[in-house]
Order: sequence, then structure tokens, then C-alpha cells
Amino acid sequence: MIIRPVPALIAVAALTALALTTLAQPPKEWAIHDMNRPQPKVIDPGTASTADRPGRPPSDAIVLFDGKDLSRWRADKDGGPAGWKVENGYMEVVKGTGGIHTEQGFGDVQLHVEWRTPTPPHGEGQERGNSGVFLMGLYEVQVLDSHGSQTYPDGQASALYGQSPPLVNATRAAGEWQTYNIIFHAPRFGADGALQRPARATVILNGVLVQDNQELTGPTAHQARPPYKAHAAKLPLGLQDHGDPVRFRNVWVRELGEGR
Ligand code: MG
Repeated sequence: MIIRPVPALIAVAALTALALTTLAQPPKEWAIHDMNRPQPKVIDPGTASTADRPGRPPSDAIVLFDGKDLSRWRADKDGGPAGWKVENGYMEVVKGTGGIHTEQGFGDVQLHVEWRTPTPPHGEGQERGNSGVFLMGLYEVQVLDSHGSQTYPDGQASALYGQSPPLVNATRAAGEWQTYNIIFHAPRFGADGALQRPARATVILNGVLVQDNQELTGPTAHQARPPYKAHAAKLPLGLQDHGDPVRFRNVWVRELGEGR
């Protein structure tokens, strides 16, 4: 007896296979204006900050500091509670307590940080309102009072410290709140630890583009540009104690790419 395939069953099987293939491999390119293309998730974008009041973060952001406490931060030196001062909606570096870092690790991010250097200004160059935002605890976006005070260009505010000066000096005067919006793509390492892709950073200071998808040469160091060393895909975000009472407020982060 010869078993003849039933055309209808073949059609169903073919459609099922097609559907499974479609599920497994979403089309890489959509036709123009395809209404089947998934709609972006709706979020509340929040509000902008003003001189005296921090704005509201986007609804899908992870709030790292909302002006109330440092519960999401730890001390670099012993992993204990962060020793910085919190008052009036900001945190302030307490000299000698050391840097602080987030409990949670991050890789690719959009990071929002507002900062304010001391007024009246004290000191010059690197000794004037120095702090820093350390992406993954390794890659520093410099925080400094660079308004009317000179230092080496790759060490002024919004420099990728020791590597890349900002495109322009868009800083405000000491005592005014300044805003960083940073888009950071972490470096990628192979299983053998070799660098596959360097880190890249875009920095917008006070609404002005100052680092344009800039490649980093490796981690930040003092008077050195060490090469990359393989590390975890996510690491805590750090803020630097450089001995100056710099303030921070309204710190939030949105994970990008694989983190979302
Ligand atoms: Mg610094």
C-alpha cells in the first residue's frame, strides 16, 4: 500500500514551519511603514531640571539618587555605607571618606548626573572642584570647575580624563548646577580576554555635545594610558572623592542594549 501525503497536512506543516522560522528569526529589515512592526514602548519622559529644582526622571529609569539617601551606594574603601553628606536634595563629597559606587552593576547605559562645584571657587586647575563620574568604576568623565580656570585640556570638565578633551568648554560658573547626559557603550572582550570592541562615550554637558561617540583607549589612570584589561560585562558606577566638596543630585540611569 502506498501512503499518499495529504496536501492539506503538507500545507499546515509548511505554514507551521514558516511560522516557527518567523518566530525564531524576526526579519532584519522591515518594509517601509509596516504597521506590523512592533511599536516602541510608551514611557513618561519626565521633566527637565531648573536651576533650583531637579527634574523628574523618565519612568523607565533606575533612580540612583533622588536627593533623599545613599541607599543605592557603597563606600569604595570597604563596601560599607557611603560616607558622603546628604542634605537639601543633594549629596556632597566628604573629604577623606573616599569614592562611592552603586550597589548595582551596569554596562551600556544612558546616565544622567547633575553636579555643582563649590562656590566661591577654591584653588586652581585640578585642585578646583575636582570629582568624577566613573563609568564601570574604570572610565572617568571628569568633573571639575573649568569655568575661568585652566588645566590640561584632557583633564578639564567633561574630558574623558587623560584621553579626550571636550569639543567645547560648555561649563557654567561655580555654584551653578550642571548636567551630564552620558551615553556609554561598554567595551567587549572575547572569551580569551582579548579586546573585541573598545568602549565609546557620548557626553552632553548642559545640553551641548562635548564628546561625540568618542572611543576610549582604555581605563582611566593617573599620568598613564593603560591598555584595556578584560572585565565583567556590568560593573558599578562610581563617583570620585578628590577632596573637594562637590555636590551631586538627580542621578538616574537607563540600561541600553542587552541590559534592557
Ligand atoms: Mg576627577
